[in-house]
Amino acid sequence: MPLKPFTGSFTQQEALGEDVIAAAISVLTSGRLHRYNTVAGEPSKASELEQAYAAYQGARYCLACASGGYAMAIALRAAGLGQGETVLTNGFTLAPVPGAIASAGGKPVLVEITADLVIDLEDLDRKARSTGARFLLLSNMRGHLADMDRLSDIIRRHSMILIEDCAHTMGAAWNSRKSGSFGLAGCFSTQTYKHLNSGEGGLLTSDDPDFMARAIVLSGSYMLYERHGAAPPPEVFDRIRLETPNMSGRMDNLRAAILLPQLARLEDSIARWNERYRTVEEGLKSVEGLVLPRRPEAERYVGSSIQFRLPGLSRSGADAFVAACKALGVELKWFGASDPVGFTSTHHSWRYVDPQVLPETDHVLSTLFDMRLPLTFTLEECRHIASIIAHCAHGLPPPAA
Ligand SMILES: *Cc1c(COP(=O)(O)O)cnc(C)c1O
Repeated sequence: MPLKPFTGSFTQQEALGEDVIAAAISVLTSGRLHRYNTVAGEPSKASELEQAYAAYQGARYCLACASGGYAMAIALRAAGLGQGETVLTNGFTLAPVPGAIASAGGKPVLVEITADLVIDLEDLDRKARSTGARFLLLSNMRGHLADMDRLSDIIRRHSMILIEDCAHTMGAAWNSRKSGSFGLAGCFSTQTYKHLNSGEGGLLTSDDPDFMARAIVLSGSYMLYERHGAAPPPEVFDRIRLETPNMSGRMDNLRAAILLPQLARLEDSIARWNERYRTVEEGLKSVEGLVLPRRPEAERYVGSSIQFRLPGLSRSGADAFVAACKALGVELKWFGASDPVGFTSTHHSWRYVDPQVLPETDHVLSTLFDMRLPLTFTLEECRHIASIIAHCAHGLPPPAA
């Protein structure tokens, strides 16, 4: 039976809504786009967003900034990373993560991942010991959370500082504790393909006053840090204000204004993402030879994308599978390709990082496929997409023993 091709777009996010448009027009009408350009008694939209996001996250402090990558880079600096110092991070993540380490002057050392796409805790323990690293920039890549209890234990035992990359785990939790609250800081992105959409943007959260004061001054506060919505008191800034450089990367009021109404709807969006995730997951569950990552009971995830593996598939088989899906309108990313395509790359393409040997990660990535699930897809379309993937996977070689 021939399958109807899917004609939707995997990169089309939802329109932003009348309230978002009104919020944008209001800022544009005021002309006060810079976050410190306020009239007496008026909190800026950037500062309102910091307050609202700190409350959502359950964090004491929040800084709105230019991007998720920027948030990670200043988090490392504010945490005291020294030039040339080692930072452990996942072997499977997106390029801005090793990029943030490089921009802060650190040296990335990559830790293996497991078949469930999370950091391999045994390799983390081993590399923490062998490198003596003080920092882990944990990437919750594609929204998969490691066992955060065991991970926290390893962090404690090695006296490491944990910074979390929560670009795909905004709103996610482990045993009801929010992703991003397990270490010194959480880093979030509001780039179009994440869970809130301002085109570009970042949010940094922490409970540590000295850390947050340094991060705020680093972000380019021009000593106007009292105009921040979720910042430590002025006396904390007195300790650090003159020894912290300005590395401008502020968020403007326009972006903050369009994020506020979206944040108010985030829980609803999460429920809708997860409906779509479970629908595709259901359609893929019974496909022979296809393996979905395990989603532990303790994990509250946000299914804004879905991953699966086809173990036993050769490189040419994977190429053919991607092409067959594409011919039917289903856009998959394959992490085994030798050249980085679009938003996809692997550690082999990060040549500014010392070459690393990660057999376990390479093995997992060689048959790993990934797909976005924008909220513009209906559940019916999700079922259609799953049936196309199932159809194209049918007849592939069985998984290797
Ligand atoms: C998108 C993303 C980031 C940060 O993205 P920016 O584009 O810098 O906002 C960080 N980590 C991961 C895994 C991402 O996908």
